Amino acid sequence: MYSEIRHLHLELSSGCNARCPGCTRHILDNKVSYLNPLVPHNNLTVKDIENIFSSTNIVEKVQISLCGDMGDPLFNKDIVNIIYKIIELRPFSKICIDTNAGLGKEEVWVALANIKHKTVVGNNIFAGNLTINFSIDGLEDTNHLYRRNVQWEKVMKNAHTFISNGGHADWKYVVFDHNKHQIEEARDLAMKLGFKTFYTNFNLTDDFDFPNIKISDEMNFNKVIEKHNYKGFVDDPECKNEKTIYVGATGDVFPCCHLGSAPYDNRLQTRLEVKEVMQIRNIKYKSFHSIVNETFWEKLDKRIKTNPIETCIQRCGKFTK
Ligand code: SF4
Ligand code: SF4
Repeated sequence: MYSEIRHLHLELSSGCNARCPGCTRHILDNKVSYLNPLVPHNNLTVKDIENIFSSTNIVEKVQISLCGDMGDPLFNKDIVNIIYKIIELRPFSKICIDTNAGLGKEEVWVALANIKHKTVVGNNIFAGNLTINFSIDGLEDTNHLYRRNVQWEKVMKNAHTFISNGGHADWKYVVFDHNKHQIEEARDLAMKLGFKTFYTNFNLTDDFDFPNIKISDEMNFNKVIEKHNYKGFVDDPECKNEKTIYVGATGDVFPCCHLGSAPYDNRLQTRLEVKEVMQIRNIKYKSFHSIVNETFWEKLDKRIKTNPIETCIQRCGKFTK
């Protein structure tokens, strides 16, 4: 069982305005990015939030990431009410949203800027802001080369609305070949616009020439079936160490977002493995509290230690072959 949950990762929506070619939403095949037909269309609701936070296993100062495997949290039209509900049920939680920032109405950005949770400093309680990570991978002439369909003017307008209304904004810049020459210029712009921090992340899929990938509205499903016969071990399982849990927009519960995206992977082996270790546990049909108290989680820990699946070795361990 998960007797204590310190980090909750919630996918508010599996919908998105963008067409980033490397996202689970898409299948890359021969320099074309197709729609992944397995991606579901779901949202978490205020009722789901009530279900999740009725669990006493979630600590008072829980860290909450609102960031999807397959969707952008701003795609959920009820995002503001959902966050109000989280703060009502866990007033000391710390909330962080990740978004491509190219969507959402002005009133939503104003409301997000004004949301306050409680924060403790020494013996005093203050009102704290939630944080929004703006995923902006370049400047006006480069952001859309990976963040396809994201309109620069809209991103800048949303950043201005949020920051000028008192919101805490951080700029997250994923570095690609096509934008690496603009890091310092983007950092200067971030400071000028009032972002609190600017930081870079490395792109993990740099084998692809993203600017030249074509976007198709067709669906494709390239089944890569070959068995990898990998060997490896997991020495540092993040789910166990950080006491994390992930709830996808479908309501399915996983220990982390990596396993959360595995059922939609185009590699059959990955999908079969995750099905084998995880039976469906869904908060749309069952209480979150009863799910996290199942003995299943101990079995999963044992499996990760003794016979880990490829996703776990890849994310939290080492291959030995
Ligand atoms: S913004 Fe995020 S969810 Fe949307 S396509 Fe890009 S990576 Fe995927
Ligand atoms: S990849 Fe596996 S070991 Fe790592 S956090 Fe997820 S479930 Fe745990």
